[in-house]
Amino acid sequence: MDRREAMLRELNLYPLWVQRHAPELTPSVEAAVAQEPPAALPSPDVQHDAGNASVSGDAAPRLEAEVEDLFVAEPHGDSSEDSLREFQLKIAGGPLADVAWTELGLKVRDCELCALCAGCTQTVFGVGDEQADWLFVGEAPGEDEDASGEPFVGQAGRLLDNMLRAISIKRGDNVYIANVIKCRPEQDRHPHVGEIAACLPYLKRQIALIQPKLIVALGKTAASALLDTDATIATLRGSVHDYNGTPLIVTYHPAYLLRSPMEKAKAWQDLRLAVATLQKK
Ligand code: SF4
Repeated sequence: MDRREAMLRELNLYPLWVQRHAPELTPSVEAAVAQEPPAALPSPDVQHDAGNASVSGDAAPRLEAEVEDLFVAEPHGDSSEDSLREFQLKIAGGPLADVAWTELGLKVRDCELCALCAGCTQTVFGVGDEQADWLFVGEAPGEDEDASGEPFVGQAGRLLDNMLRAISIKRGDNVYIANVIKCRPEQDRHPHVGEIAACLPYLKRQIALIQPKLIVALGKTAASALLDTDATIATLRGSVHDYNGTPLIVTYHPAYLLRSPMEKAKAWQDLRLAVATLQKK
């Protein structure tokens, strides 16, 4: 067994991570991926504690229903006449256009624009290299993130770190990680449309400050918010989208991958597409 196969087995991806149509990595990236086998992924048979999802031991039989819940059906619960676009337009004229990092962090810390601020321990602003080429965007803080103040910790965070390692990048080093929502929704529910609209300007300002070369949207909420679409993950992944001139790749949220490990093969395809896209920049 060669090192690359060993790595893929470690990721529980082999032989599922065999692509037919995705672009090939250059030899240098292929070698980089093979150099450092990621640590073992967390078992899916654990209670997930971040990213608004729970993990159970019988995830496979419930897969279809969970996919429907997370990625196909309207996830936000609030389908009032205040559409996401209307909220965004309402807030677009806000005062964030010239706000620098420090002030932006303070504004998020003190924000009371939506009711989520009342139920969280602290805001979770984002973490990483403020001039990173890579930006990964998730949905909202979970329990561990709420406690630590950092996005993507706990089981989903460890899986994300392994995903980053598989493409030879790591948290904090040319990588920035943030969520659409900065305050933990109660009971880790999906955020409502109005909450997304209220919080999205902060993420947009973060993106403007970072000026990443590539954005990876992790899950339906991030993809919908940044691309202003209700399309499903299945529809959006596999293509290079555009966010104000920055290429954007859509893939599954690590919390979903914990519950549905068979989908890791598709996430690997998405990461390869992301690497190939960045190489063209
Ligand atoms: S979730 Fe966002 S918009 Fe709502 S209170 Fe927190 S920081 Fe403000």
